[in-house]
Amino acid sequence: MTFSAHDGGEDSISLYFHIPFCTKKCPYCHFYVIPNQQPFHRLLAEGLKKEWQLRSFQIQSKKIESVYFGGGTPTLFGPRQIADILERIQGLSPDCEITIEANPEEATEDLLAEYRQIGVNRLSLGVQSLDDRSLQTLERIHSAAKAKEAILAGSRAGFTNISIDLMYDLPSQTEASFRYSLDQLSDLPITHVSLYNLTIEPHTVFYKRRTTLLEQIPSPATSLHLLQHAIEALENLGLKRYEISAFGRPSIHNSGYWTARPFLGFGPSAFSFWEKTRFRNIANLQRYAKLLNDGKFPVDFEEKLAYPADLNELLAIQLRLKAGVNIETWPLPEETKKTLQRLEREGFMKQTASVWQLTDKGMLFYDTVAVEII
Ligand code: SF4
Repeated sequence: MTFSAHDGGEDSISLYFHIPFCTKKCPYCHFYVIPNQQPFHRLLAEGLKKEWQLRSFQIQSKKIESVYFGGGTPTLFGPRQIADILERIQGLSPDCEITIEANPEEATEDLLAEYRQIGVNRLSLGVQSLDDRSLQTLERIHSAAKAKEAILAGSRAGFTNISIDLMYDLPSQTEASFRYSLDQLSDLPITHVSLYNLTIEPHTVFYKRRTTLLEQIPSPATSLHLLQHAIEALENLGLKRYEISAFGRPSIHNSGYWTARPFLGFGPSAFSFWEKTRFRNIANLQRYAKLLNDGKFPVDFEEKLAYPADLNELLAIQLRLKAGVNIETWPLPEETKKTLQRLEREGFMKQTASVWQLTDKGMLFYDTVAVEII
């Protein structure tokens, strides 16, 4: 599968809804997350309704390629609230990818069947690991058995497109434990895996414990082996790597991020990319709701990159795709072309006609490549 910038045409867009509720905050989580309490549900429902009223004119006559409910744990909001949001969106085509994130501990077959009934057709489960020791390290509240049961429940509920998140580079994680986790994927009905390494971000509990944790995370050599095991195991399951951290059936929604498809984000802390401008909603539910009550956009950050920074950034993001980027029609500045050639000499990039791709080394050191290009 190949993608081009703005795949699906200039009128193709995506929508994102941030539902920030979680039963418990994980110690490594840096997302905007709040306790799962009814007064917060009401505040969010009212805020989302008002935000939709303010913004919906922007999406008239657009083709909505994907709708994504992320969080947090959006399934905690309940099928009725999610159905209300979907009903507000006019003209959703039957082939629109509608994803909801869920965590294994909440994902019963009955609940997932309700989401399937209201039109959600893709499930993204926060599995993280199928090894109980790793789940305990992450202080997750589900077990490996529960995670497997949630995947099977999703399938029985009618989901034929199930993605899971997997993590590596965890404190005290060994190659054997990661292999054990990967081995258990073989008889599970998954179509997609997002593979992440643990990063210790500021403002998290893990950040406070970073001195100890950094001593426990796998060495760079072990980390490389973990990644290689994962690539091999996933490709053996038919889940081909199509992006640095994504394997299997390409996600229409995530592919939009990599190809600069415009998207609008709703809810506290949600990002948008619209008319070549990036903006972010305020990461505080009460202030988000207050701004909307006052008839104001709840935005606290906005940025519009000028040429050539915008193009360089798009190139760096799109290079994450294994298929690479055909730059034939891209008005890249000479300096960027020279950078690509230097990265090719250094073994990070390869070129076939006007298509540039990361090499295996480039995929491994993507952050370095991106910094050079941007
Ligand atoms: S379940 Fe996900 S969103 Fe919620 S706290 Fe944990 S990592 Fe963050």
